[in-house]
Amino acid sequence: MRWSQTLLPTMKESPEGAEIPSHVLMLRAGLINQVMAGAYTYLPLGLRALRKAERIVRDEMDRAGAVELLMPALTPISLWARTGRVDAFGNVLIQFKVKRQNREVHLALGPTHEEVVTDLVAHQVSSYRQLPITLYQIQTKFRNEERPRFGVLRTSEFLMKDAYSFDTSVEALNASYDKMYAAYCRIFTRCGLKYLPVEAESGPIGGDASHEFMVVADNGEDSVVHCAACSYAANLERAEIGGGPQSITLVAGPAPLTKVDTPKVGSIEQVSKLLKCSPQQMLKTLIYVADGNPVAVLVRGDHEANEGKVRRALGAAKLELADPETIEKVTQAPVGFAGPVGLSIPIWADRDVLVVANAVIGANEADKHYTGANIGRDFHVPADHVADLRNAGDGDACPRCGQELALRHAIEVGHVFKLGTKYSDSLAARFLDDQEQQHSIIMGCYGIGVNRIIAAAVETSHDELGIVWPLPIAPYEVLLAPLNVTDEEVRGAAEKLYDELTAAGIDVLLDDRDQRPGVKFKDADLVGIPLRVVIGGRGLKEGQLEVKWRREKEPSNVPVAGAVPKIVEMLAAERAKYAP
Ligand code: ATP
Ligand code: MG
Repeated sequence: MRWSQTLLPTMKESPEGAEIPSHVLMLRAGLINQVMAGAYTYLPLGLRALRKAERIVRDEMDRAGAVELLMPALTPISLWARTGRVDAFGNVLIQFKVKRQNREVHLALGPTHEEVVTDLVAHQVSSYRQLPITLYQIQTKFRNEERPRFGVLRTSEFLMKDAYSFDTSVEALNASYDKMYAAYCRIFTRCGLKYLPVEAESGPIGGDASHEFMVVADNGEDSVVHCAACSYAANLERAEIGGGPQSITLVAGPAPLTKVDTPKVGSIEQVSKLLKCSPQQMLKTLIYVADGNPVAVLVRGDHEANEGKVRRALGAAKLELADPETIEKVTQAPVGFAGPVGLSIPIWADRDVLVVANAVIGANEADKHYTGANIGRDFHVPADHVADLRNAGDGDACPRCGQELALRHAIEVGHVFKLGTKYSDSLAARFLDDQEQQHSIIMGCYGIGVNRIIAAAVETSHDELGIVWPLPIAPYEVLLAPLNVTDEEVRGAAEKLYDELTAAGIDVLLDDRDQRPGVKFKDADLVGIPLRVVIGGRGLKEGQLEVKWRREKEPSNVPVAGAVPKIVEMLAAERAKYAP
C-alpha cells in the first residue's frame, strides 16, 4: 500500500476526550475515528490490525475443532424472554419495535448469542451421536454500555468471537473447556499479548468453572490479584484471602465504650480525620438486603466488602445494598452512622474485624460515633457469621501458598465459562443417550473481544513517540521510507524494494509522500510499523539501506544488494518469537 493512496490521517496533538494511551494513539495514528460515544469507524490501518487478530482467532478456533457459523445480530425479543434475560440485561439490551405490514415486531440486537445458538441446536441436534460440537462465530455484538469509554476498549458495538460447546456429560464439557482454554493461550501468545488467565465467578457448575483472560495494564477497568510465588490468580470478585478463620476472643481493651460527637461527618475518611484515628481502627457497618431481609456486614474501615463473598456466605440468591429508607429504619439513624451496637438484625463480620480493638463505629444516632468498641463485649457476632467477606488487596496472604498477593488493574480480553444446562433447560435443547433417555445438553461459552486485542496491544506496547506493534497484528510489517521522493534514484530503489518485498508475501507500506524526513520519521514512530527501512540518496551512493526495528533506538545498515532476503529473514526470526 502507498501512503499517498490510503486514508491515514495522523494527528500531532492528543485528541480531546481521549484519556488513556491506547485511545490517544489509536486516534493519532489514524487507526480509528469516532462516530459517536461508543461507536468507531475502523480506518484502513486499524481494520488491517483488526483483521489480523481476527485471522489468528479464527485459525486457532478451527485448529481446536470448533466450527464456524454466522448468526444474525437481529434477534426476536421472544428468545430473550424465554431465558429471562430481557430483565437480566436490562438497559444493556438494545431493543426496539418495527412495523411489518400491520404487525409490530419486537426485536433485540444480540449482546451475546447463547439464546440464538441454543435454539438452533435445540432444533438441529437430538442424539448423542451428533455431540460433542463446538460452534463459533466472529460477529458484531451490541450492548448499550452505561459508560462507553477508553476508545474501542468499551464500545456499544464491538466485534466478538463467541463460541459455544455442547456436550453430553460434565466430563466431556471439561474436555471442551480445556481445548478452548488452550486455544485462548495460543491466540493471545500469537497476538503478542502478555496475558494472565484468572479464576472468575464460577456460576452454576461451581468449582473451577470460569476463567477470564486478562492483560495487566494500569488503565484496565478490572482488578485482579496475582501471587508471583505460586501463580494463583483471580479477579477481585472471586479472589480468596489466605489465613484460616479466627475464633472470637474478647479483646480486653482498656478503653471504655464512649459516645462522641461527629457532627455531619459520616464517611470513614471524615471520621478518621476528625477523631484522629486510622481507618484500620474503624469498622464500617454496611446494611444489605439479602433475599428481602436486612443484614449488617462489618468490615474494617480500610477494607471493601465483597458482595459475591457476602452473598455466598449468607447463602442468598439476591443481595443488594439497602436503600436509605431501609437503613434509617433498621439503624434509627441517617445514612453514615450505622454501627453494630444495639442492632436487632443479623450481624456478619469479616475475619479481620475480630482483631480490631477499641474500634470506632457508628452509634446508630445522627452525628454520633462510639470509640472504644470491642467485639464480644459491646456487640456480638456469632462464630458462624464470621467469614472472608472483603476484597483482597496488595499484601494479603495468598489462599494457596500464603505468600503475598499483588493487586493489579487489567483488561479482560477473553472469557471461558462452563454454563451447564441453564440455556438448554430453558430452550429445550436435549439429546437422547444410547439408552433412548432424554437429557439437557451441557454447555460452555467462550468469548474474545477482538477489538480489545488491538486496544490492549497498543495499551501495553507503546512509548512516548507512538505505537510499538507486535509483528503478528501490525497493520503492515515493513514501512519503506524513501527520504526524497523527487530524487529519481531514491524513488526507483524504493519502488523496486516495494515490489520485491510485496512479491515475497510481506505487508509493506510505502511512504511515498513528498514530505520532509522529520515528518516521515515522526509519523513512522507514531504509526509503529515494526520494521522501518530508510532509503536515502547518500546511503544509496554507498550501496546501503538503513533498517530499524520500531522497538530499538539505533538503525543498522544493510547492503542494497541482498536487502530483500535479509529483510525476509529478519521478519521470519521476529515472527518465530510469537509462536505458541
Ligand atoms: P466487561 O466485564 O468488560 O463488561 P463482559 O464480562 O461483560 O465484559 P463478556 O460477556 O464476557 O464481557 O464478553 C466476552 C468478551 O467480549 C470480553 O471478554 C471482552 O473482551 C469483550 N467485550 C465485552 N464487552 C465489550 C465492550 N463493551 N466493548 C468491547 N469489547 C467488549
Ligand atoms: Mg466476561
